[in-house]
Amino acid sequence: MERDVMEYDVLVVGAGPSGLSAAIKLAQLNNEHNKNLSICILEKGSEVGAHILSGNVFEPRSLDELIPDWKDKQAPLSTPVTNDVVKYLLNENTSVNIPFPGFLMPNFNNHGNYIMSLANFTRWLATQAESLGVEIFPGFTASEVIIENNILKGVVTGEMGVAKDESHKPSYQPSMELRAKYTIFAEGCRGHLGKQLIQQFSLDENKNPQHYGIGFKEIWDIDPSNHKEGTVMHTTGWPSTGAVTGSYCYHAKNNQLFLGYVVNLDYQNPHLSPYDEFQQWKLHPSIKKLLKNGTRVAYGARALAKGGIQSLPKMSFPGGLLIGCNAGTMNYPKIKGTHTAMKSGMLAAETIFDAFQNNTLQDELEEFQTKFNESWLAKELYKARNFGPLLHKFGSLWGAMLAAIDQFALRGNLPFTLQVKTPDYKSLKAADQCSPITYPKPDGIYSFDKLSSVYLSNTSHEEDQPCHLKLKDPNIPISHNLLIYDEPAQRYCPAGVYEVVEEDGIKKFVINAQNCVHCKTCDIKDPSQNITWVTPEGMGGPNYPNM
Ligand SMILES: Cc1cc2nc3c(=O)[nH]c(=O)nc-3n(C[C@H](O)[C@H](O)[C@H](O)COP(=O)(O)OP(=O)(O)OC[C@H]3O[C@@H](n4cnc5c(N)ncnc54)[C@H](O)[C@@H]3O)c2cc1C
Ligand code: SF4
Repeated sequence: MERDVMEYDVLVVGAGPSGLSAAIKLAQLNNEHNKNLSICILEKGSEVGAHILSGNVFEPRSLDELIPDWKDKQAPLSTPVTNDVVKYLLNENTSVNIPFPGFLMPNFNNHGNYIMSLANFTRWLATQAESLGVEIFPGFTASEVIIENNILKGVVTGEMGVAKDESHKPSYQPSMELRAKYTIFAEGCRGHLGKQLIQQFSLDENKNPQHYGIGFKEIWDIDPSNHKEGTVMHTTGWPSTGAVTGSYCYHAKNNQLFLGYVVNLDYQNPHLSPYDEFQQWKLHPSIKKLLKNGTRVAYGARALAKGGIQSLPKMSFPGGLLIGCNAGTMNYPKIKGTHTAMKSGMLAAETIFDAFQNNTLQDELEEFQTKFNESWLAKELYKARNFGPLLHKFGSLWGAMLAAIDQFALRGNLPFTLQVKTPDYKSLKAADQCSPITYPKPDGIYSFDKLSSVYLSNTSHEEDQPCHLKLKDPNIPISHNLLIYDEPAQRYCPAGVYEVVEEDGIKKFVINAQNCVHCKTCDIKDPSQNITWVTPEGMGGPNYPNM
């Protein structure tokens, strides 16, 4: 198929913290060395930040390296953390404060960090990148990779204006080839092209499978009397029904509370609904009292990659690099992946710039791994490596205690590295072997149904387009998943996209693709690995404000 072609020196897929940091670092090196490399970023959201969802307590280490005068340049980090609180929720009424977070659990010590909106931070990074000459194209998806003679040559952008029946509508715009000497994949957790590249170049050979969580976030305008700007609270325990879970409440500026919940996707009970666990958690008196007289103003969900260094694939292949959460650089015990994603982007930029200087174009950049291994990032991830496996093997309470000993007493230096070899999609047991779970009905004050939540994510997709949630075998949801697992997609999807309905006595699997918030959980957790998330038309998806 003939397509228009645009050529760049470096192409970045994804304008998250990793992709933007890579582009900024490259542009800085460009300027320092009087080079003129052309750099382009593709972003599927309607604007930079529209698809970004994160807590976010931000560790500024990478930003200090990348843009040391960020304060003068008015980076949106206006809320320094002033207070750390860690609570264990014993049951639906009671909680205990864990009184020594700072020194016993260094990962919960946020002194020197900032509460911020990651979406707004990426918007600010984008202005920095553009001022250095980087071209950013929001609303454009990278939908396919171009691989020739086993070398990555660039990507194909998604078509616009294709109808459900694949015919071209009057608004049709064909795809384009964006070719580059190097392409950096910075799509975030479970990137759709990253997943293909990992397979194509066997990047995960001899590694543990990646492990994931689904993270929720809501923003509430709360009563000023309940708000303590700068306070960071984490909880674990109730209402967890067999899954490893954790929560966060960050008192941001303007009397806003950023709160959310993470459910690890290695849970076994197919009756579990991560969304309902989150809604139920807000009913605990410790949380409810913060929300009293408040208003929920935003909702969203996004998977996070938490397998750590044991699951980190090889990050280089001929013609390209994989960075940030697309590879899996998040520090799980800290639940922080922003500074690590940024650092991986900066290392990628340095590696690629050296390649241009040395004319080693489109070779595989194995130096990236060397740079990574020598960086503080690799050391940080190495120390974090046993936290996830301890929680996986021993659960939220005992696992957390053992992990605290590993992180505090031994500073992450256990003399062995634990492995978790079972992928999350294989962890579900049959529905009839597990207890059903009854969740409280949403009260419409503190807890809500999925559809009213999706409404607050400002999600919109062009309805007349091919479904972007592809089933390898359309029969599996009913003939296999429903029979064995009571089709868990009905519960793990945070946006109510998947439903099983009965028509004339026949069960049907319905996909409401227009509600998809691009969290990628279905691609990860479907027990038959039958669902593949592909990019819908550019601009579609959530439109998060200050998530
Ligand atoms: C609930 C939750 C809470 C968190 N809390 C914190 C925290 O407090 N502190 C912290 O440091 N970290 C936190 N994290 C982790 C942090 O958000 C991530 O580690 C970080 O966002 C990773 O950055 P990234 O650039 O790799 O990917 P992302 O931030 O996911 O950005 C990827 C970008 O690429 C775009 N994209 C993807 N695919 C394509 C494509 N094919 N074509 C075009 N564009 C594409 C996406 O739209 C997106 O804008 C949290 C994560 C979650 C889910
Ligand atoms: S359809 Fe998949 S990617 Fe979309 S919101 Fe549901 S689980 Fe997430």
